[in-house]
Amino acid sequence: MANKFLDLLKTRDWLLADGATGTNLFEVGLETGDAPELWNIDEPEKIYNLQKSFVDAGSDIILTNTFGGTRNRMKLHKAEDRVAEINTAAVKITKRVADEAGRPVVVAGSMGPTGDIFEPVGSLTREEGIAAFREQAIALAEAGADVLWLETISAPEELEAAVTACSETGLPIVTTLSFDTNGRTMMGLTPGDFAGRVKELSTVPVAYGANCGVGASEMVTALQNMAMCAKEGDVLVSKSNCGIPEYVDGAIRYTGTPELMADYARIAVDSGIKIIGGCCGTSPNHVRHMRDALDNHTRGPKPSLDEIVARLGEISNGAREMNEAGPLGAKPKEQTGGGRRRRGRDPKRKAADDGKMPGQE
Ligand SMILES: [Zn+2]
Repeated sequence: MANKFLDLLKTRDWLLADGATGTNLFEVGLETGDAPELWNIDEPEKIYNLQKSFVDAGSDIILTNTFGGTRNRMKLHKAEDRVAEINTAAVKITKRVADEAGRPVVVAGSMGPTGDIFEPVGSLTREEGIAAFREQAIALAEAGADVLWLETISAPEELEAAVTACSETGLPIVTTLSFDTNGRTMMGLTPGDFAGRVKELSTVPVAYGANCGVGASEMVTALQNMAMCAKEGDVLVSKSNCGIPEYVDGAIRYTGTPELMADYARIAVDSGIKIIGGCCGTSPNHVRHMRDALDNHTRGPKPSLDEIVARLGEISNGAREMNEAGPLGAKPKEQTGGGRRRRGRDPKRKAADDGKMPGQE
C-alpha cells in the first residue's frame, strides 16, 4: 500500500518537519501543568491553526499533538481512560490540515516517553511499557497516521519497548532520542551507540536521529557523531530546539533567531541529515526561514566542528570528544550495557519535571 511518508522520502533530497507544539500553545493560552493533548478535544481549532501555520511556512511533516498521549502520561491529568479518544481526535485534526495543504504533507503520530523509568533502574516493566505504547500506537494508526514518530526517548529499554509496540501496527517508524547530557542521552546512550542499536530492534526504523536537547550546535554535532556510525543510506532526523531556554520575566524564552535556525538547516543538510525540523521554541516564523534556507541551498561539504561553533554556538566537551575521536571513538565499548546514570542528573527528577512541563516536544 502506498505510504505518503515513504513516497516523499524516495522523491525528495530533504524533508522539512514542523516546530514546537508546547511552546507555541503557551502563546495561545496553554498554561504550565496543562495537558496539551486535551486540547485535541477542548480546543481543536487552536491545534489546527498552529499546524496549518507550520504547513503554510513550508513543513512537509506535521507531528500530531499526542506527545504525552500514553496512559501513563495522561494519568497525570486523570485522563488515562481517554487515550484512544485523545489520539484519534489529534490525528483527525492533523489529517484535515494535511488534506487541505494542496501538496503532500505527512501526518506523523507523535509518541513521547511514558515519563516512568523502566526496570532495572525504575519500576516500569517491559510489558507495562509495551502495553502503554501499544494502546497509543493502535489509536494513531487506526485514525490514519502515516508514520509513528517516537521522540525524546532517552533509555534503551524504553526505545525497545516502544518500537516493539509500534511495529504491531505495520506503519513505518521514526525514532529520535534526546542527547542533552554532555553529548549523550540522560540515560547514557551515545549517538553512535544508538546508530548501532536501531539495527537490532524488532522493526528497524525508517529514519532515526535526535530531537530537543540543548540547541542547534549540540544537535548537529550529535547527528554528525551518529552519522559516523550509521550505515550508508540511513535516513537521519534532526529536530533541534530553537537555541537554549532562558527565563525572562518568569517565562521561558528560547535564544534561537530565525537566522540561526536557517543556518542550522543548511548545516544539517551539509552534515548529511535528510529530515530537518525544530523542537521546543521553534515558531512557524522560524520554520519559514528554515524552508527558505533549504529551498535556496546547494548541499556543501560536511562542516567542521570549528565551523559549527562559529556559526551556531558552543558545544559540550562530550560531543566534541566523540566527534574528534571519529567512528570508533563515537561508539565507546563501555556504553554497551546502557541504562547508566549520568553524573549530575537524576532520571527520576527529570521524569517528574517532564510531567509538569508539557512543552517537552
Ligand atoms: Zn524540545
